[in-house]
Amino acid sequence: MPLVPVPVLVLLQMLVGVSGALPQCDPRVRGMCKPTVEEKPKCADLVLSYCEDMAYSQTMFPNILGQKTRKDAESSVEYLLVSVVDSLLGGRCNPDVRMLACSVLTPRCERNSVLRPCQSACEAVHKKCRRAFEEIQMAWPYFLDCDRFFVGDEEGCYDPLEGLREQEDEAVAATEVPPPEGPAASLQFTYHSNSEMISALKTAEDRCADIARTYSIGRSMEGRELLAIEFSNNPGEHEPLEPEVKYVGNMHGDEVVGRQLLIYLAQYLCSEYQSGNERIQTLVNTTRIHILPSMNPDGYELAVSGANGDSYGDEEVPRYGSWNVGRNNAQNIDLNRNFPDLTSIVYSRRRQRSFHTDHIPIPDNYWFGKVAPETYAVMKWIRSVPFVLSANFHSGDLVVSYPYDLSKHPLEQNMFSPTPDDKVFKLLAGIYANTHKTMSSDEARCGSSRANSQKGIVNGAQWYSVAGGMQDFNYLHTNCFEVTVELGCDKFPPEEDLFGAWHDNQEALIAFMEAAHRGIKGIVKDEEGNVIKGARISVRGIRHDVTSAENGDYWRLLPPGIHIITASAPGYARAIKKVRLPPRMQTAGRLDFVLREAPPGSDEHKGENSFLSAAAYERFDPYNQYARYTMTSELNQSREERSEKPWWWNYFVSVGGPAPTWLLKHY
Ligand SMILES: [Zn+2]
Repeated sequence: MPLVPVPVLVLLQMLVGVSGALPQCDPRVRGMCKPTVEEKPKCADLVLSYCEDMAYSQTMFPNILGQKTRKDAESSVEYLLVSVVDSLLGGRCNPDVRMLACSVLTPRCERNSVLRPCQSACEAVHKKCRRAFEEIQMAWPYFLDCDRFFVGDEEGCYDPLEGLREQEDEAVAATEVPPPEGPAASLQFTYHSNSEMISALKTAEDRCADIARTYSIGRSMEGRELLAIEFSNNPGEHEPLEPEVKYVGNMHGDEVVGRQLLIYLAQYLCSEYQSGNERIQTLVNTTRIHILPSMNPDGYELAVSGANGDSYGDEEVPRYGSWNVGRNNAQNIDLNRNFPDLTSIVYSRRRQRSFHTDHIPIPDNYWFGKVAPETYAVMKWIRSVPFVLSANFHSGDLVVSYPYDLSKHPLEQNMFSPTPDDKVFKLLAGIYANTHKTMSSDEARCGSSRANSQKGIVNGAQWYSVAGGMQDFNYLHTNCFEVTVELGCDKFPPEEDLFGAWHDNQEALIAFMEAAHRGIKGIVKDEEGNVIKGARISVRGIRHDVTSAENGDYWRLLPPGIHIITASAPGYARAIKKVRLPPRMQTAGRLDFVLREAPPGSDEHKGENSFLSAAAYERFDPYNQYARYTMTSELNQSREERSEKPWWWNYFVSVGGPAPTWLLKHY
């Protein structure tokens, strides 16, 4: 950040009539910028009524924003904001924001020169009040930009909140209790609206800036942000050999418990890490955790209105059958039926020799169907991060279901349809169900899975067959193993039940993430020590390979026992190793491979098929069907956005003059 905010300098020079850059004008030395015009602005009495409680009584025009007279300032949108900001924010951050704004609009004047407010004061107010602005969907006002209009101590700044501090000393019984800072924040077991969810995730990010980062994976049909939060000792980066896990909630908009649990989980990881919980610290330091509390915020919005309308949350909603308000996205697409159906492809080719059940390309015809923006965003996300393990949270039953979700027989709706990794999936599903407070016990069972589940886990297809589900897609298209957790029969329970839900699931949520460290991991390199990306790791007896990531690193979730592992890559001789995994292991067994280049003409060079399928795998929306489709919907959306301005917008527009679009967050 430059010491001198250049735009202000230029602005001031223009205002005082200095034409051209004068080299002798060094703004770092106050008083050297002598205007060449004869009439020098003088200090004047501060008379703007909303700024009258500043700790000084003299100001100067032009002010820091370049408003030339008191009248200009008084009729500006900036001042209008000052006059209403207290009511807009519902009393929060009063009078901090107002006084900060006054220090720009009516800056302190001493000996006929303007003093500028301190950057540090601005930053403190920004930190304290940023969220209040976010909650009313207002952008942080441009004229409170700490880097632009404020200066550092070395430039002789003053604290605009000085008067306030004195007042506070006098009256300790201040009106507002500042929000709790630091790690000791306790969880609030209430429902979070979409904007409250976003602000809760951003708060966790702020509080745990060293280990947390929020990021958007895309937008919903109605333009809502699909915001994820990541926890890692190195947020924003994939670290070699560190497994990545993800949790996805609220895919069905009316199934809201998972969404809340994931918000609490983010808050919990942050606070426990900071308060020195060793288990959480180890988990975060060795795992990259991604949490997407809501995959379907549009559906949630609808579900909330439905839930408020009547008490349908109280009765047991049938698992499928009648359409539930808010279950689908805004286009009425069931997101858990909207992924490419790769399972059918696997079934149709399962008798072919050397056919594998991994990295199945998305068939081109998929793109000519309706692809929801939420599905599209999640697919891109799944393809871009080397996820190892995942859970996807629903309600309507109490069970963990695992792939396949699609029945291997088209006419059999309840047919056990295992993947080649059935042992691993049973292990993973069991870890969740058994660490859950009640899930694995018979008495706790509810919903339609009862007939087929065992100890709280069930094969998806055996429960009921689903095509285009997300867990099958994860398994068949990427290296990621995903299960579906059904958190209870009540999809939208009363708020009083949320604490109980957290209590029941907290241990399971942690233990399941720790399971990313089961099995083996390692790095595949060539003889020169270069990492090999996309090498296949095969396990004898399991027709499902995983591939190595950018850094040549791979993870293979495996049950305890003896396994024969092969690493291969086109142009290299395959390497085979044997491992024995003990029943109890805390970290993945390390198994690295060095691949020798294969002599020309050998079998390993006949890898054309895998090259072909690699090219097919890379194809993602090859005809730009989705882009074409969303371009139209984005047009609609921006039209909608124009009519759906925040509630305070008309107030500022009615005043006349250019519309203050700088108040809008996503303009
Ligand atoms: Zn669901």
